Amino acid sequence: MGELAIIGGGLVGASLALALQDGARERGWTIQLIEPFAPGDEYQPSYDARSTALSYGTRLIYERLGIWEAIAERAEPILRIHVSERGRLAATRLAACDEGVPALGYVVENAWIGRCLWQALDERVVVRRCPAEVQAMHCGEAGYRLSLTDGSALDCALSVLADGGRSALREQLGIHVRRRPYGQTALIANVTPGRAHDGQAFERFTADGPMALLPLAENRCALVWTRDHADAERLVAMDEAQFLDELQQAFGHRLGGFRQVGARHLYPLALVEAEEQVRAGLVVLGNAAHSLHPIAGQGYNLSLRDVDALAAALLGSAAPLGDPAVLRRYASGQQRDQALTVGFSDQVTRLFGDAGSFMALGRGLGLLGLDLLPPAKHWFARQAMGLGVRSRPSQR
Ligand SMILES: Cc1cc2nc3c(=O)[nH]c(=O)nc-3n(C[C@H](O)[C@H](O)[C@H](O)COP(=O)(O)OP(=O)(O)OC[C@H]3O[C@@H](n4cnc5c(N)ncnc54)[C@H](O)[C@@H]3O)c2cc1C
Repeated sequence: MGELAIIGGGLVGASLALALQDGARERGWTIQLIEPFAPGDEYQPSYDARSTALSYGTRLIYERLGIWEAIAERAEPILRIHVSERGRLAATRLAACDEGVPALGYVVENAWIGRCLWQALDERVVVRRCPAEVQAMHCGEAGYRLSLTDGSALDCALSVLADGGRSALREQLGIHVRRRPYGQTALIANVTPGRAHDGQAFERFTADGPMALLPLAENRCALVWTRDHADAERLVAMDEAQFLDELQQAFGHRLGGFRQVGARHLYPLALVEAEEQVRAGLVVLGNAAHSLHPIAGQGYNLSLRDVDALAAALLGSAAPLGDPAVLRRYASGQQRDQALTVGFSDQVTRLFGDAGSFMALGRGLGLLGLDLLPPAKHWFARQAMGLGVRSRPSQR
């Protein structure tokens, strides 16, 4: 009997497998990690062309899991963040040195994070069922029976649903979601600027939607550009020269002239929250539990804190795997962090996404206020660094 199954080996599922593996080895548990695509496959939804801004808090968790050194090989530190609005003078600047940390965060390509995570998994503890997909889940007396596309079935005391924001299994289990579309699509691409980025990240708010340019290795920048759906479709279809020209106009010349753009991809955006995250024998995790707007760079960092807390709850309890009281304790322990992080990224997005003049005035003042008021700025920086709720991720 497979005692513990993780459905989805994306960023979140693979991180949970890693967070549990030492404890699982000691306890004689086997972890079944089920994933249709291995990292390095041409199409892997979690490890596509995207990059992720990892918060300083995430670095601390990865250090504890023993893979930060490997990830750091291709992690570009964010030394400063420049937040501005097109057409307004107000701007705020956050600096790692003001916050007493070596970096405000780190930008890493998802494909690299995936590779580091999968390489760190011990095959004697984590059984990789890849390529395979869970087609159906049936609730039994002692957990769930999973039916896989390879024809096999697994009876699991605990099943963790980490199959992403469009989780078909979540729907199959009748777990409802609260969905608030932003009416926007994120266009992502890597771009090469004319000047050195020097570890500076830019968050820029324009009347057409916010954009972020994050420093990447080899003096590239990861662009996340949010526009309405039709406009995003138009931008993705343009030839390279036209695209770079339009990007230049929206961003300005702080990084010199843009020289090159890589493959462009679109992600329609919505805030999606599952109404239940735990049931007896079941946890919903990662994007399947909450998908956030990417502009504040919080989604994965929040999910990694969930992973850390779930691993601590499971390994810290003598109760059988899947015990509902343990799972409820985990969920209620994470409730505040989730509410604050979802609220923070939703408010940042809505505040800066509204083109109304009253909001625009408030935004200008807000940015100035942030720059003039060190405590407000410090608070903002701590939220962005993933250190807002817990000063230090839990120790095991
Ligand atoms: C444009 C963009 C930029 C972002 N930038 C940031 C950022 O800078 N910082 C940040 O913290 N977050 C960021 N995020 C959020 C981050 O990408 C997500 O939080 C993260 O990808 C969630 O990972 P996941 O493993 O939950 O889901 P996914 O990445 O969707 O992975 C789900 C996995 O489950 C597998 N799967 C699906 N169905 C099944 C099945 N039936 N059986 C088995 N396996 C299955 C899939 O193949 C996939 O590998 C960004 C998101 C977007 C869209």
